[in-house]
Amino acid sequence: MNKITSNPGRGLGIVRAQGSLMAERPDQRRIAVAHPAFWGNEKKYVQECVDTSWISSVGRFIPAFERTFAEFCDVEHAVSCDTGTSALHLALLGYGVGPGDEVIVPSLTFVATANAVRYCGAEPVFVDSEPRTMNLDPELLEAAITPKTRAVIVVHLFGHPCDMDPINAVAAKHNLVVIEDAAEAHGATYHGRVTGGLADAATFSFFGNKIVSTGEGGMITTSNADLADRIRMFRGQGMDPARRYWFPVVGYNYRMTNIQAAIGLAQMENVKDHVEARFRVAAWYSRYLQAHLGFLELPREETWARHAYWMFTIVLSPSLAHHRDQIMERMSAEGIETRPFFYPLHTLPPYRSAAVHLPVAEQLSAAGIMLPTHALLTEEDVARVSASLGEACRQFSLRDLEPAGQKTFSAMTD
Ligand SMILES: *Cc1c(COP(=O)(O)O)cnc(C)c1O
Repeated sequence: MNKITSNPGRGLGIVRAQGSLMAERPDQRRIAVAHPAFWGNEKKYVQECVDTSWISSVGRFIPAFERTFAEFCDVEHAVSCDTGTSALHLALLGYGVGPGDEVIVPSLTFVATANAVRYCGAEPVFVDSEPRTMNLDPELLEAAITPKTRAVIVVHLFGHPCDMDPINAVAAKHNLVVIEDAAEAHGATYHGRVTGGLADAATFSFFGNKIVSTGEGGMITTSNADLADRIRMFRGQGMDPARRYWFPVVGYNYRMTNIQAAIGLAQMENVKDHVEARFRVAAWYSRYLQAHLGFLELPREETWARHAYWMFTIVLSPSLAHHRDQIMERMSAEGIETRPFFYPLHTLPPYRSAAVHLPVAEQLSAAGIMLPTHALLTEEDVARVSASLGEACRQFSLRDLEPAGQKTFSAMTD
């Protein structure tokens, strides 16, 4: 299973291309932050696409992947598309979101969540996070609603599901659509129910670093047949399904290819293993990071949740947060790739507004690190990442305690 350990150079091309000058010793090979795992029929199904010449957006793998994915999410319909970003755009188009509308989104998420709102000509309205799960704070939702609000997109950030019951209750009271952005949460559960079926519609991404991958790819899940039909129409240039070359609306070409669906179907045949591999990685991190809890906080898993651990994240203690980027640089020098948390979207140029201050999202964003999380990591890898992180934290907290003169000296010597 751990193909990467038996062949240390395999699949690390992306990391090398980023310019590591380190000589790779077998015990110090770079640990990538993400990596897809191909454990089943991926190659065989792709070969079939080439052999049969069904390489475009018609072919047997597309309906098979959609059906399998709908069953996995316990919904009636799954509509595939080319990316997770298109999936969000299609879900909003399917509900008729357009100019003059507002859509509530969390500020702490990947930029695609808000971009999709803008693609529709609507405005994202940002809500702060709740510190335990780091997801949109349900208690702040109602205050963000205005007469223009049409929908709420909640994001199961890093794989932890949102607390859907209060969110759905507020939305129902105000007649709002709820869309789950489940790009990071394949297989996560809320009170035992899997993400993708917890609201009016949900969207997934199959980018190369996601829990299930097709290279690039996306999916919309819903039990609303009319919505699924509208989304299929928008996905395929807006063509009337009963009248060839008749386009009642302006649509898009957001179709998935049979090749992507071939990889997706093969991934879904082993989806339990893909999901469980990440629990294993998370359990190792929780064990190995126990020694460093004075410096950082581990991700929480609420009693009603099963975390999908798209990324195992840590949040540095307030006294260390200002060293976050240096800690990551030090780990990188030791061959360990990490990522900072996303910038809160209300601070990015397209969405910046001086009036908006969302303290929890801002604080988490500045102090958070995503650690390598993927299905090919070994326990040794996780131990190495944890030790490197712990040592970096120790060094920087010691440095803060040193008198100014010595600080200069130690900074010069390492
Ligand atoms: C990855 C991601 C997306 C976008 O998916 P793409 O397939 O890269 O377009 C959207 N939302 C969130 C939360 C994501 O993590």
